[in-house]
Amino acid sequence: MEAFFDRIWTVVVPERVRLFLWLVAHQVIMTNVERKRRHIGDSDVCVVCKGDFETIIHTLRDCPAMAGIWERIVPQRKRQAFFDKSLLVWLYDNLLAREVVANVPWATTFAMAVWWGWKWRCGNVFGENNKCQDRVKFVKDLAAEVWSANQAVGVRTGVRTRVERQVGWQAPMLGWCRLNTDGASQGNPGPASAGGVIRDHNGRWLCGFALNIGRCTAPLAEFWGVYYGLVMAWEKRVSQLEIEVDSELVVGFFKKGISNAHPLVFLVRLCHGFLSKDWSVRIVHVYREANRLADGLANFVFSLSLGFHLFDLVPPSLETVLWEDEIGLTRPRDVRL
Ligand SMILES: [Zn+2]
Repeated sequence: MEAFFDRIWTVVVPERVRLFLWLVAHQVIMTNVERKRRHIGDSDVCVVCKGDFETIIHTLRDCPAMAGIWERIVPQRKRQAFFDKSLLVWLYDNLLAREVVANVPWATTFAMAVWWGWKWRCGNVFGENNKCQDRVKFVKDLAAEVWSANQAVGVRTGVRTRVERQVGWQAPMLGWCRLNTDGASQGNPGPASAGGVIRDHNGRWLCGFALNIGRCTAPLAEFWGVYYGLVMAWEKRVSQLEIEVDSELVVGFFKKGISNAHPLVFLVRLCHGFLSKDWSVRIVHVYREANRLADGLANFVFSLSLGFHLFDLVPPSLETVLWEDEIGLTRPRDVRL
């Protein structure tokens, strides 16, 4: 519940909307059911549709006046669950949702629709006779406006120099294979490992590996990951390979080279040796959210013996990560503007 109330105060909507959400979450907004319970009203029936008890969830979601609007705002695959939830679960799930729909965080659109649904009801403007503009468009436009104003304020004042972006693994182009590698060192230097996976343009697992290195630094572990990944891809006769790593250091050494005095020079040179072979290889930096499978392999190998481990199939504990990558699941990440 603490996360829930915290969230209410951080949803990107005007303050009065947050206050309203807070009141809804405490179930203290006034409906006919509540009026009758307190003996300040005779009827507990909905004033708008007259077809059901006027509970909070009825006024905000189920009353046909609102349900029709929600049906056009909520993505179809989510609709059933959306209408099945009880009030608090409904609020919780929608306000904590990290999805972005039409470039606006879903929580913002949701909160604006809840607020305006309430305002329309209180103004008694539902019904046949009002000359209503398109309420769905109204809510969507307003949510987009609120969101873009929030970001613009941040840019102007320098308060928000970071924005939330959805980041996830993306399959390579047709004809290319993707190598994701990662290295980890617990303590830097400390017990270290590396892992990598090669997938095709459908996101299917071709092969993977993990290396329980023993003690070394994090950059060294990263490079062992890239090196073994290159070896594996070359042996699999991959002709076009795109490498993704979440270490900017590694990408930098690949692209700009490395001085002879650097302790990593031997390994960087080994990797460079592969680049001059007869194939196309490129390396790019990705955020960790796009490199979860390699990260998972590198962590998984801590439970295995020292040395190199080859995986023809994804280890069962990482099946979910592979699947999430395959379907293109993204996660929010604060990205510096
Ligand atoms: Zn109703």
